[in-house]
Amino acid sequence: AITTRRLNTAANQWRQAIAEKNPSINALVYTTPASDAISSAGPLSGVTVAIKDNIATLGSPTTCSSVMLEGFTSPFEATAVKLLREAGADIIGKANCDEFGMGSLNKYSNHGITINPYQPPSGKSEKRYPGGSSGGSAAAVAAGMCQVALGTDTGGSIRLPASYCGITGLKPSYGLVSRWGVVSYADSFDCVGVLASTVPDIRRVFGTISAYDTRDPTSAIPEVRERSLEALNVRLSRWDSERGSEKSLQGLRVGIPQEFFPAELSPFVVKLVRRVLKSLKDQGATLIPVSLPSTSYALSSYYVLASAEASSNLARYDGIQYGCHVRPPPGSDLTKISRNYALSRSKGFGPEVRKRILLGTYALTAGAFDNYFLQAQRIRQLVRNDFDRIFSMRNYYLTEGSSSTKTEESLGPQVDVLIHPSAIRTAPPIEAEDEKSSSGESSSLDSYVQDVLTVPASLAGIPALSVPVPSKLLLDVEGDGWPVGVSIVGQWGSDELVMKVGEAVQ
Ligand code: GLN
Repeated sequence: AITTRRLNTAANQWRQAIAEKNPSINALVYTTPASDAISSAGPLSGVTVAIKDNIATLGSPTTCSSVMLEGFTSPFEATAVKLLREAGADIIGKANCDEFGMGSLNKYSNHGITINPYQPPSGKSEKRYPGGSSGGSAAAVAAGMCQVALGTDTGGSIRLPASYCGITGLKPSYGLVSRWGVVSYADSFDCVGVLASTVPDIRRVFGTISAYDTRDPTSAIPEVRERSLEALNVRLSRWDSERGSEKSLQGLRVGIPQEFFPAELSPFVVKLVRRVLKSLKDQGATLIPVSLPSTSYALSSYYVLASAEASSNLARYDGIQYGCHVRPPPGSDLTKISRNYALSRSKGFGPEVRKRILLGTYALTAGAFDNYFLQAQRIRQLVRNDFDRIFSMRNYYLTEGSSSTKTEESLGPQVDVLIHPSAIRTAPPIEAEDEKSSSGESSSLDSYVQDVLTVPASLAGIPALSVPVPSKLLLDVEGDGWPVGVSIVGQWGSDELVMKVGEAVQ
């Protein structure tokens, strides 16, 4: 009874923090009552978790920040959320996001934009975006409204907001966390992941939600999980035996991919990443420059493929089976079903989602298919090959069933992880007119370019963790005072290794 009372008090305190902070930040779009907090005692007992609004939860709305799903409450719950509840987590609310996960700023939401809660040390108050599309999840953690948040990452939507808000975010290996109950944007990329202030918090939650699920056809089967875990453990124990007592990263091979330092990078970002690399070297890691030559095509490939999958996934919202329904004007010809669709879909979808549907539909038309969709698929394979060539571990998910090992000639410099900046810049400032309407048109190319460093890992389905550059390394660097994130990327299934290196950075 005493424990229950203590948990109840904690549950109330977190909700108190939300009541105070959320009105100015708009990170959470729904908060659950404290009476819901204790579902069961377990390893995550008392841990408050916010859930991105495109992940289905029982008892609270799931709207994907879209007019299309306004007021919708799912009759079932996502596997990831169910696992959290079973472990005793306090599902504290739903987090704002870009509509259906499409965006990089958390600007395209029918709940309005989210404000980045970070306070620069200069004390100069300036409104900036939290990044997207899991911007509400990141802002809620950064503002202390919850301990952990679930987000989804299709092309960078966990890592970018983590970087902009100064917190930690993990996009796990594709297929480790079930997508069942997650509203599909681009299924071959969509990953459920975790945002938190520290790596240990991420590890705990990830450990709970990473489980085989028969209801997700892309869920990695137990055999694949075991084989890659075995290979990882062999690697980790070899690393254990190689390292001396004082240098904790002795034997770790860190690749620095030259293509991930493009000309657009802010110079102080480069400087900070160099400091991080130096600190890893001081801890015993070996730094190895590597090249991933297909990187420059990754962004275009991603936007063609993700839009194509989106156009197919979002076809179900026709206003009849699913989604908001607009009645045709009286006297109109009701046999023209297409007219009915158009009315409902034009009202239900915002400008960015409509743009993606048009783009994706075009890429899939007979005339454009070969030149766009197939070419983009080819690039995706080249990007995967680039990663497979340099990682010392094999990709057990994609090579399932084949007994092929790496051939001698395919061996380049073999590395355990890659490190690169998470984003080309710090959080972008909010332009005045965007605050009034979330449909503000800015150059999409500009915002798509923000994803240039995050999409390669998404194309390959491999784990990537963004951690903030620690404050001890920020001294006397002429930045703008806003957080900078570095990403640690590993082979499929090496999520634990990626987290270990993340801890060494922090
Ligand atoms: N910004 C990218 C997009 O809009 C990534 C989004 C995501 O990862 N959900 O597609």
